[in-house]
Parts: sequence; structure tokens; C-alpha cells
Amino acid sequence: LGAAELEALQHADVAALLPDPTGESDKYARGVVGIAAGSQRYPGAAVLAVSGALRAGAGAVRYVGPGGEAVLARHPETLVSTGSPHEAGRVQAWVVGPGLGDTPQARTTVGEVLDSDVPVLVDADGLRMLDPERVRGRTAPTLLTPHAGEAAALLGWDRADVEARRLEAVRTLAARFGATVLLKGSTTLVADPRDGTPVRVNPTGTAWLATAGSGDVLSGLTGSLLAARLDPRDAASVGAYLHGLSARLAEGPLSALDVADTIPAAWRNVR
Ligand code: AMP
Ligand code: MG
Repeated sequence: LGAAELEALQHADVAALLPDPTGESDKYARGVVGIAAGSQRYPGAAVLAVSGALRAGAGAVRYVGPGGEAVLARHPETLVSTGSPHEAGRVQAWVVGPGLGDTPQARTTVGEVLDSDVPVLVDADGLRMLDPERVRGRTAPTLLTPHAGEAAALLGWDRADVEARRLEAVRTLAARFGATVLLKGSTTLVADPRDGTPVRVNPTGTAWLATAGSGDVLSGLTGSLLAARLDPRDAASVGAYLHGLSARLAEGPLSALDVADTIPAAWRNVR
């Protein structure tokens, strides 16, 4: 493997990319994130994704789905609606998929989000509903955030093959979907569909992140960076970096909500 094919993400690169607000910023300039996540069965995924987004500097979060009550109990600042993404109002980026389930309604939700003209992050259950052609045909960028099992399902490979050939897996997915792909795991990789762009490797992960819901926090966190107009490759890299650093700053056993709550400390640490 040539050195030029891989690029380790450096602290200074992340510092330069952090979207700190300026004196002129209002909440719309900061970026409004739309989150379509959660279900009757998994309302917690919605809470975790919203927490990740709010802790990462979103100007506002619009939540659509059946988890509104749980979301508001934790984050009364969320703009909650039970309607569909089409009716949600203007956002600068969408996050779709965590805890969504696989129902006809979930499929409609994913379709509506993909129809939008803003960057979209697709995670978890949303990844089960993707047609490569439809993703390639989008007018705005798409970012996919699978773990190895989800990547295997998207590729039609065995999970063990994804684990053994992670670099090939992440690149193949990026090319097939014409999307940026963040492949989660003990080392997180970020591949871009543009030719000749090195795959980024995130150095901050810790095994404490292997806990239920931590991926949902990463979705919201990264969605917030997309809404702040970071390029999808940068949003994915900075998202993975801050997520890992938050877990390290928590220094030991943690819940996914702890990861979200430590994002501001990680942000200060980088800056
Ligand atoms: P998910 O599988 O969607 O819940 O996401 C789990 C999150 O934890 C991802 O951000 C992974 O990269 C991270 N993660 C899981 N296991 C490890 C590990 N052993 N070392 C570092 N990060 C991990
Ligand atoms: Mg997940």
C-alpha cells in the first residue's frame, strides 16, 4: 500500500477545520440539522443523535419522527414535528437512519430525505434502504456511516471479509454509491468518491466507544458539521476525531450520552 493512499488525521488539521462561530453568526448561519431517526421501538436513538448534533454546535435541530417526546424530555430546545421530512422546514443537512426500523414508513422517510437538495448522512437502518443509483443521482453530497456489519450488507460480502479488507471495502462503497463513506470500527476510515483522494484514518478511537448508541451520537455530531458547511470528507473526519477524543476525555467506562456530553470538552481540547 502506497503511503499516498492513506492519510492520518492530525490534531492541527482538525483545529483548522472546526467551525467556530464568528461574531456575525446567527443560528441559521451556524446550520440547522434535520434528524429523522428513532421509532416507537427505539426512541433512544433519536435522543442520542439529537444530543450529538446539539453538542457539536448546531444552530438548531429539527427532529421528525415518533421519538419527539423522549427528545424533548432531554432537549427542550429541539424543534420537534411528527410530520415527514418534506414538511419539516429548511435545514442545511439531514441525518437519517438511527433507530428508524425497517418499515414502509421508514423507507418513505429515507426516500424523502434523499430527495432533498442538502447534504445527507445515512446511518444504521437507513443503510438498508439505499439504491446506489438513487444515491449517485443526488444533487448534494451523501455520507454513509456503516459499521462492518452494515458495510457487509451493502457490499454483499461476509462481515469477516470487510474486517479483513477494510480499505478495499470503504473504497468500493464510496465508488459504488458516489458517496463519502465513514467505515466505523477500532480504526475508523473515511473514503471519498473523488479519484486520487487518500483514505483518512482516525487515530482517536478507544474501545470504550464499543457501547450501545455511540454510533447514533456520531451521526448527530457529524450531521452538525455538515450543516456548518464542512465538506463531507472533512465533516466525517472531524466527526470521528471529536467522537474518539470525547470518549478518551471521559476516561473509562461511558454511556453513549456521556460521549455526547463530552463533545464540548473535546472541541476545547482541539482548539
Ligand atoms: P455503532 O456500531 O453504530 O454503535 O458505532 C460504534 C462506534 O464506536 C463507532 O464510532 C465505532 O468506530 C466505535 N468503536 C466501536 N468499537 C471500537 C473499538 N474497539 N475501538 C474504537 N472505536 C470503536
Ligand atoms: Mg449504529
